[in-house]
Amino acid sequence: MRMWTRWSAWLCLSLMLWTAAVESTHHHASETDAASCSICVLAHSASPTVSSHADPVFAVIGLWQEEDVVAKAPLDFSELGIRGPPAVL
Ligand SMILES: [Zn+2]
Repeated sequence: MRMWTRWSAWLCLSLMLWTAAVESTHHHASETDAASCSICVLAHSASPTVSSHADPVFAVIGLWQEEDVVAKAPLDFSELGIRGPPAVL
């Protein structure tokens, strides 16, 4: 990794951490200052709500059809060309 890439990564990381620390710990001397601060307005605003309630749509897109799988094993020795077990005569 090149040196400038490493330094720029550390610079961005440190700026992000300092910004997060300053935003979370800042305070205002008066209420009017807090009312005009975008961070405080956003922090104390109500969570957004969904205006329109969408009902879920359930539709069948396919059916699982299970089929029996039967393995067809050749048990006849003559088909494989293999000699069968010796028989006692
Ligand atoms: Zn503020």
